[in-house]
Amino acid sequence: MTGPATTHRDAFGSDPEGVWSAPGRVNLIGEHTDYNDGLVLPIALRQRTRAAVSPRTDDLLRLHSVQAGETVEVDLGTVGPGTPAGWTAYVAGVLWALREDGFAVRGMDVTVDSDVPVGAGLSSSAALECAVGAAASDLFGLDLLGSDEARARLARACVRAENEVAGAATGGMDQSAALLCREGSALLLDCRTGETEHVPFDLAATGHVLLVTDTRASHALNDGQYEKRRRACEAAASELGVGSLREVDAEGLDAALDRLSSDEPRARTRHVVTEIARVSATVSALRAGDLDEVGRLFRASHASLRDDYEVSCDELDVSVEAAEGAGALGARMTGGGFGGSSVALLPEGSVEAARDAVAAAFAARGWEAPRSFAVTAGPAASRDT
Ligand code: ADP
Ligand code: MG
Repeated sequence: MTGPATTHRDAFGSDPEGVWSAPGRVNLIGEHTDYNDGLVLPIALRQRTRAAVSPRTDDLLRLHSVQAGETVEVDLGTVGPGTPAGWTAYVAGVLWALREDGFAVRGMDVTVDSDVPVGAGLSSSAALECAVGAAASDLFGLDLLGSDEARARLARACVRAENEVAGAATGGMDQSAALLCREGSALLLDCRTGETEHVPFDLAATGHVLLVTDTRASHALNDGQYEKRRRACEAAASELGVGSLREVDAEGLDAALDRLSSDEPRARTRHVVTEIARVSATVSALRAGDLDEVGRLFRASHASLRDDYEVSCDELDVSVEAAEGAGALGARMTGGGFGGSSVALLPEGSVEAARDAVAAAFAARGWEAPRSFAVTAGPAASRDT
């Protein structure tokens, strides 16, 4: 990457006012819990999306992405639900949402460059939104980066951009991670209250590594299935007479399952309730330095997502099994499922073996080679220059 500032000069003929960046994220545990008012536990990745930006005094957006390989012009006045289509929705949508929230924002010239894998379940979309949102905050004097409360407000604008303008149904985890995570910590986010806690996450201190594997699989059913799961959870909650499945606790689970009318909502509910409990247990285990227990919780999470929630796929299962066969304490799919990435918790000495085992298992099945890389917990969105 030569840096988006140089590219900006080439694309727009002048230097940017500054460069802002925001990280991708990987969720350690707590999958499909965010829209159930549950708990999630992401870390910010070192991989980031960078946005070189100059403010404008009119409503024009001139947007260039190195990854998209194009420059697109959008009139901010035309932005709204469903418009524009394509990648520019994630950028224009943030400015639209900030305006909707009452902030005075104008057009911008934006050049985007990123090393977050796109479409791998590592949240390149939120990284893009939050890098642009951070730039808008500083350039238009919105003061949305100075405190966690302000950052949470910016996160909500980025969620609106993704849900309403880009039309992608997601919970709030990705944008919160990109704006609120801290270096060396995982972010425990309570999606019911918005409360956050920073949980120390330094695997190197005990000689361990978190290996992310981008399976490069992406199954077409993805979007419809996500909506179906959300609706199933809402239906189960309403059958149980609760506002969300968060209100069912682990002790009350069996009684709740007995009250549900069929097997499918029972299985979905079992996943959500046990997964939320596993997030709390993971936080305790991390604090106690009990990585064997974290590994056990990863395994249980994967089994629950595969068998009860039915959002895994062959590539995710094979990556998890191969890593565990090569010495992982535990591994699990991460992100929405039906493709994307898995995470494996490994002793340092087993990383190469695990990477090789996953690659060999994919090659044996004739699948495209996966990409595996070790990750550590990085910082949230910031101004770089
Ligand atoms: P994920 O967030 O897991 O990477 P999504 O499907 O949510 O996957 O978001 C990917 C989309 O975000 C891309 O298809 C593209 O529209 C947009 N996007 C992300 N990063 C970039 C980028 N660097 N340049 C242009 N568009 C991007
Ligand atoms: Mg995304």
